[in-house]
Amino acid sequence: MIAVERALEIVLQHAPQLAHEDVGLGVALGRVLASDVRSDVDQPPFDRAAMDGYAVRSYDLRDAPVTLDVVGRIPAGAAPHASGPQPRQVMEIMTGAPVPPGADAVLQIENTRSVDGGQRVELLESVVPGRNIAPRASEVRAGNVVLARGRTLDPAALAVLAAAGCARVSVGRRPRVFVLATGDELVEVSEVPGPGQIRSSNGYALGAQARLAGADVVSLGTVADDQQMLEERLTEGLRADVLLVSGGVSKGAFDLVEPALARLGVRVLFDAVTIKPGAPLVFGTAGATLVFGLPGNPISTQVTFDLFVRPALLRMQGAQTLARPRVEAELLSAVDNRSKRANHLPAALRFEGGRFVARPIRSQGSADMTAHAQANALLVLQPEQVRAEAGARVPAILLGNFLDTDGR
Ligand code: AMP
Ligand code: MG
Repeated sequence: MIAVERALEIVLQHAPQLAHEDVGLGVALGRVLASDVRSDVDQPPFDRAAMDGYAVRSYDLRDAPVTLDVVGRIPAGAAPHASGPQPRQVMEIMTGAPVPPGADAVLQIENTRSVDGGQRVELLESVVPGRNIAPRASEVRAGNVVLARGRTLDPAALAVLAAAGCARVSVGRRPRVFVLATGDELVEVSEVPGPGQIRSSNGYALGAQARLAGADVVSLGTVADDQQMLEERLTEGLRADVLLVSGGVSKGAFDLVEPALARLGVRVLFDAVTIKPGAPLVFGTAGATLVFGLPGNPISTQVTFDLFVRPALLRMQGAQTLARPRVEAELLSAVDNRSKRANHLPAALRFEGGRFVARPIRSQGSADMTAHAQANALLVLQPEQVRAEAGARVPAILLGNFLDTDGR
């Protein structure tokens, strides 16, 4: 048995960085940037009006209100003017338009009153120089790095890339992940389980988790606990960048996965981690392929994926941030840990009264999918920590659904 941290270290040491590829900006969401991106233009590219109103010489407004001549109108998209307002003149200007030379502020339209059919305008307030003008290059200078390598592309990053002129971007290749569920008791979702049978759910959870981590996923379906059939399917699975196998890694008579992998030439690097849920956890490599034998209990599968597989998939794509955020949360009720392993307990977390509070979710154990689905965080109790009382502060790992839940 090795500790969680050590196991993750081993996994990451063996996770190869995949090649880069160029993709169009329109399909780059969730991909990981492979190189620093620089802007090819100043942003803004000219002194830009930040309000609809009047481009003014602020000195003219020192004794506002004052009525001045309107000598032009500048819409967004107009080429920058060669000449601007002379003393006691103003120009009407729109948000996003280039501020003309001579003008040093924009007075917003709400503080003005048009007179003489727009020939003149009454400016109701004075303005300080620079007001409502975004100077050229005040946000970004041409040539500057606007996004760093390793950034996962979210909507805000895509906007930055678009503004920087990146119609295509270099990103880490998506890992190809094959998912195989093992177990004699498993039937397909569309079937009604017979006596002793259950529907196979792990493949769906794992496939979805891998997709959310940027992988291309291929399902290898379900295989029985039969040495020959298992080896055939595993052989197929070893063509992946990452093979995920669920079930068959404990110490039972029909837990055939680890020996089968070994026979197929997989170098097993560990097969037990001091974690709950999920102690039997096999990790190995076959050439550049990573193989995870995840315990079949549905929560063990999902939690061990999040802690070990997801960081590997992100590392392979070149991501900077691999771990889920951790916070400290105050327990609303006590939790126990009799496992002597690092216990990861489902909880509903919310921010309230200046701190995170955690409501532990009553779970029947590592098969209780329904309880786990109510959680948006995992409370972590260390192996030696037997109990944490209500009111105690414990570390919590935010789960992927955290931002879409309110923890109630
Ligand atoms: P195993 O790791 O094969 O010993 O399985 C542990 C527990 O997880 C058993 O109760 C299995 O029935 C259950 N299990 C294994 N594979 C799956 C699966 N694909 N979907 C749902 N439960 C599973
Ligand atoms: Mg099994």
